[in-house]
Amino acid sequence: MSAAATWAPAPEFSDRLRRNEPMSRHTSWHVGGPADWYFEPRDRTDIAAFIGVVPAGTPLHWVGLGSNLLVRDGGLRGVVIATHGALSRLERVSPTAVDVEAGVPCARIARQCVKWGLGPAEFFAGIPGTLGGALAMNAGAFGGETWTHVVDVDVVDRSGTIRTRAAAEYRATYRHVAAPVADEGYLAARLCFEPRPDASQDEIRDLLARRKASQPIGDWSCGSVFTNPPGDHAARLIEAAGLKGYRLGGAEVSLKHANFIVNEHGATAADLERLIAHVQQVVETRFGVRLATEVRILGEEAA
Ligand SMILES: Cc1cc2nc3c(=O)[nH]c(=O)nc-3n(C[C@H](O)[C@H](O)[C@H](O)COP(=O)(O)OP(=O)(O)OC[C@H]3O[C@@H](n4cnc5c(N)ncnc54)[C@H](O)[C@@H]3O)c2cc1C
Repeated sequence: MSAAATWAPAPEFSDRLRRNEPMSRHTSWHVGGPADWYFEPRDRTDIAAFIGVVPAGTPLHWVGLGSNLLVRDGGLRGVVIATHGALSRLERVSPTAVDVEAGVPCARIARQCVKWGLGPAEFFAGIPGTLGGALAMNAGAFGGETWTHVVDVDVVDRSGTIRTRAAAEYRATYRHVAAPVADEGYLAARLCFEPRPDASQDEIRDLLARRKASQPIGDWSCGSVFTNPPGDHAARLIEAAGLKGYRLGGAEVSLKHANFIVNEHGATAADLERLIAHVQQVVETRFGVRLATEVRILGEEAA
């Protein structure tokens, strides 16, 4: 039994802390077994105090909107910190800078920046996660990328200490961020944009309509499962391998966009993971390219 399973947390956190919380409620694939502990903090101070009492060595998992997570059916050992709903401040702090807490949905950043006449921020509308997830993933869409706009970030470490780090301390590349210190969680970021007095909500609507035409938006998915290999597209390779519509258990390679795997028929996490492995194996055999997963796979297999 893990240390977290037998842990008795301090009573002051008990109204925000759930035991054996099914992660299927918190992932866009709607799969995933229970987390030992699931913490819904009040604010950043609450997070820092809480982390201070989590026993050393207990795994800590940061979760935003779970739109890039595959949690296995046996669940997550340790503690989940859920930022969505807690870290929700979004404020303009100078003519071009915006202070955003990690739980703010990216779509809200896009809409609010348009209202403030700032841009280019419309691309955030295409990312159905929080700013925290976008910082961890260097999420991007329609040619825009999260870290292009980061001035600095507020982070909290495993002792509960909060500090500000400059963007220059991080190395952000395509869907990957090398942080100076492992195991720090994002609490907020200062983002910088340009004045765009002509920015309009219509641009966001157009981008989303384009996306809806080519992707299975509305189905249960995690967006693109694989990153694009250099000079190519994962979707092209998967389609050329004849895998569109291929099904394993309740998981299916989307007929609309081959880099999406949808939970169409009551899939388990094991179905999804088996299909991911199958796609990787077939594409590698056919084209000699090993597709890397963009989705983060966590947790334990069912017993
Ligand atoms: C329909 C659909 C379309 C998508 N389209 C795109 C797209 O165009 N471009 C794109 O880049 N992505 C896309 N995604 C994937 C996903 O939305 C992004 O990766 C997003 O940034 C994940 O944010 P999240 O809050 O859901 O993170 P989660 O899925 O909750 O977490 C993802 C990772 O971020 C970490 N994390 C989350 N919050 C924090 C924090 N505060 N501190 C530290 N680490 C944290 C988690 O630990 C995990 O490793 C799509 C997903 C879906 C379902």
